[in-house]
Amino acid sequence: MDRIKIFNGKIITPYRFLERGAIIIENGIISCVSGEDVPVQDAVTIDARGHYVAPGFIDIHTHGGGGFDFMDATVEAYLGVAETHARYGTTSIVPTTLTCTNEELQQSFEAFRKAKTLNHKGADLMGIHLEGPYFSPEQKGAQDPKYIRIPSKEEYERIFEWSDDIIRWSAAPEIEGALDFCRYAREKGVLMSIGHSDAIGERVTEAFENGFTHITHLYSAMSGVKRINGLRYSGVIESAFLIDEMTVEIIADGIHIPADLLSLVYKIKGPSRTS
Ligand SMILES: [Zn+2]
Repeated sequence: MDRIKIFNGKIITPYRFLERGAIIIENGIISCVSGEDVPVQDAVTIDARGHYVAPGFIDIHTHGGGGFDFMDATVEAYLGVAETHARYGTTSIVPTTLTCTNEELQQSFEAFRKAKTLNHKGADLMGIHLEGPYFSPEQKGAQDPKYIRIPSKEEYERIFEWSDDIIRWSAAPEIEGALDFCRYAREKGVLMSIGHSDAIGERVTEAFENGFTHITHLYSAMSGVKRINGLRYSGVIESAFLIDEMTVEIIADGIHIPADLLSLVYKIKGPSRTS
């Protein structure tokens, strides 16, 4: 039996908070959570020294960390990022690329593949998230407009040939060919996410029906209510709220969106649909 005891920690469980407690893990499964230290035999013991003990965070959109960027496209960068995130409590990450050339993409895929087999100390590398290049130029945000383009089947088929690790893809659903692309990617098991999009609400509903079920950094680089020829139209933001099943991502650093908007998102979408 492989037994680990973590003691002397502030323990956060889904149900309660324990000021000073212990956790026992047997063969990789938590077998006991206690508000006080418990005697255990033959266990590897870890003194949490009053620090928090909580489930690991899962970050499904990260570009780097610890001075590294996934666009460095090196094994060293991938491992460096994974180890940095692990140090701060994130146990799984989805490395995210930027809108770039296909050569750069391929290099980053290659680095991911190698890093995944060598990653023993870092956060788990779950799979790759492609942020771009199929975006709306009107909502480019920090994406390089040079590489923004409409989806071409020939191109995305090739991208999927280069990597089996793609698990999420952010795109603008209103651009030409986006819904065909979405259905294709969904068949590959990819989470399709609306990002850098200037779509009106109607188009978002259609996108949702075709498999776009997530929103990339809600409020950042996307449409809200707008006036076209004297009429008002909802945008991606309003649709994200209106479509109950749509899940949303927020950059909850208090800088990209202020505290009151974070509260609004949380109030409407709740914890199970906000990441
Ligand atoms: Zn972005």
